[in-house]
Amino acid sequence: MEIQSPAQASYWLVSGQALFLVMHVLGLACFAYIMYRRLVPLLRAQPDIRFDQPWLRLGRVAKYWLGQWRHPRYKGAGLLHILIFIGFIVLAGRAFSLLMIGASSGFAMPGFSGTLGHFYDIVRDYAATVVFICMIVAAVRRIVFKPARYAVPARLGRQRGQDAIFLLALIAILMLADSLFEGSKAAVQTQQGQASEFLAVFSLPWICEQALASFSLPLLSKLGLGAYFIHNLTFYFLLCYRPFGIQFHVETSLFSVYFAKLEREVLKPVRWGVHDEQLDQLKSIGVKTFEDFTWKHMLDFYSCADCGRCSDQCPSNAAGRPLSPRFLTTKARDYAFQHYPVFGKANNSSPLIGAIYSEDEIWSCTTCGACEQECPLLIEYIDKIVDLRRGLIDSGNVPQSLQKPLKALESRGNPYGKMEKKRSAWTKINGFQQSCPIKLLDGKQGADALYFVDSITSYDDRIQAIGHATARILTSVGESFGILGPAEKDSGHEVRRFGEEILFCALRAHNVEAIKASGVQRIVTSDPHAYNALKHDYKDIPPVEHISQLLARALNEGTLKLNHAETSDKVYTYHDPCYLGRHNEVYDDPRDVLDAIPGLKRVEMKRSRDRSFCCGGGGLMLFYEPKEEQRMGVLRVKMAAEAGANVIVTACPFCMVNIEDAIKVAGMEAKMAAIDLTELVDQHIVRQAPGGMEAQRELTEV
Ligand code: SF4
Ligand code: SF4
Repeated sequence: MEIQSPAQASYWLVSGQALFLVMHVLGLACFAYIMYRRLVPLLRAQPDIRFDQPWLRLGRVAKYWLGQWRHPRYKGAGLLHILIFIGFIVLAGRAFSLLMIGASSGFAMPGFSGTLGHFYDIVRDYAATVVFICMIVAAVRRIVFKPARYAVPARLGRQRGQDAIFLLALIAILMLADSLFEGSKAAVQTQQGQASEFLAVFSLPWICEQALASFSLPLLSKLGLGAYFIHNLTFYFLLCYRPFGIQFHVETSLFSVYFAKLEREVLKPVRWGVHDEQLDQLKSIGVKTFEDFTWKHMLDFYSCADCGRCSDQCPSNAAGRPLSPRFLTTKARDYAFQHYPVFGKANNSSPLIGAIYSEDEIWSCTTCGACEQECPLLIEYIDKIVDLRRGLIDSGNVPQSLQKPLKALESRGNPYGKMEKKRSAWTKINGFQQSCPIKLLDGKQGADALYFVDSITSYDDRIQAIGHATARILTSVGESFGILGPAEKDSGHEVRRFGEEILFCALRAHNVEAIKASGVQRIVTSDPHAYNALKHDYKDIPPVEHISQLLARALNEGTLKLNHAETSDKVYTYHDPCYLGRHNEVYDDPRDVLDAIPGLKRVEMKRSRDRSFCCGGGGLMLFYEPKEEQRMGVLRVKMAAEAGANVIVTACPFCMVNIEDAIKVAGMEAKMAAIDLTELVDQHIVRQAPGGMEAQRELTEV
């Protein structure tokens, strides 16, 4: 007895060939229709310019999609995903040829009938086995170990674990059915004394063959044909079911990665194709309804794998604020599925705030970027949140606590409402100008470099010390520098990230003019928010450096020398400010500067560098009163204590405010202190006295 091929066999009196041809046509037609319906909102969405630099984008696809670059950041889950992904890639060809066998018996992929085909068959057998085992392991993880990051808080909807397990089961059935088909075929051939197809030893098809060896020929034939039928049915069911849930990322993730933002730190414009000067002519600004999102942002919603890594790293989520980035996406995806159904009319008129998002949720984000840094599919959050804030501002929904600082920024150029002429008053405190003269770049004096001070360092009593330290360091390393004084306005960094684009444009225009008029060649700042704004949000100004970069350079050039650390009982840890580290990848320079202080003991916190934990946010976030269970800063201070540190060094005035405050709130004043990198360097700098003699440094204890 010959085992019949599925195309030659008959199923319920229907020829296999006809049955499978109909199945292929119906399956593909259903899939094409569902995909068309899923495209409907994208076709109605706002534009997004993502078609530039195809080679760079392909390279990123090779790295992040094909190379699964970010998956190993979570070791167990990452390894599992990589194995499944490789298995799927290997089995894609197998799935195609297996489906074709139903329509044309003896079908072989072109070029795969000889040695290459045999080699591929062995790899394929092991791939099916690995994927099958991974499905079991993944299901056990979900059912038994229940990783916390997969949980869905009751307020955010139903648990999604069952959906995930159902999909894992479907893939396992697919692997098993394929292996049963192959195994039964090989068992028939062995029983008939024919040269049987070689099945890779210990692979799933091989195990099936061994298990079926004693079955009768008619039973083996039925089993093989049944397994083939189940395989095809499962395949098309899975294909058409995936666009209804988290597995949709199998289809969309490649495109999401290809079209991902190339310059992550540059905020998206209010609307692509609309210039800043035309903003006040727009009828509506920002995202209010679903179709206000760009097509790429909608594609992101479809592509999220619901892995929870973004929320796991999100400091707002950790602090118990009403924001968890994963759910920003899944709620929008559910909204899309509901309002753009596969059958029926699309309907999209309701505002998203109040329907799926709350105002507090949208204002809770510190734009720290931890979510984007973690997402293996490069899904974007900051632009979406800023767009939603733009929509809120445009509708007049500004949180009470932000109204005053925003008004002050508009009228006085700083959020504190202080007089413009007082902007340089910090240079005169306690006769500072006498010990460290600072030029005012008002057209009468010139300098090579501009020290862009920004609002908090200019006006905050505690933070002015960072301004003093910076000025002393710049003087010590021989920098020719000056400040804009009253001609400087707030950089607008947070104004922009809080959605006030028109106000930001006004602040930027003023500063650009003042910077150009100063005639400087370079800009330096001790504020990472100002650094980020000047570097990425401003155009046509001289190059900008953060003070930590200048210090690292001065060390290398030998213009900066540092004295031995005074005390041995201090253990320092460096806290990466989000807008210096994650957003601008300046991780090593501040550490190099710290390590250049002889005898200084430094430890790393677990969450450091690109996994740094936001201290609570800067700029306008200092004025916002979020609903939260605990302060982010307190969590951060505890992380430093866990690392064994008793001094937290940061390089951002806002981090300093948040961390010093958190130390007090946590009641840890006796155990922990905070200091800015500039203050620490200023304490240890070897100053050259006018006569060339090494001057005695003034030590101010932390
Ligand atoms: S940017 Fe930071 S605070 Fe905002 S959602 Fe992402 S991780 Fe959370
Ligand atoms: S956005 Fe990215 S990191 Fe977050 S759940 Fe989705 S796939 Fe995972």
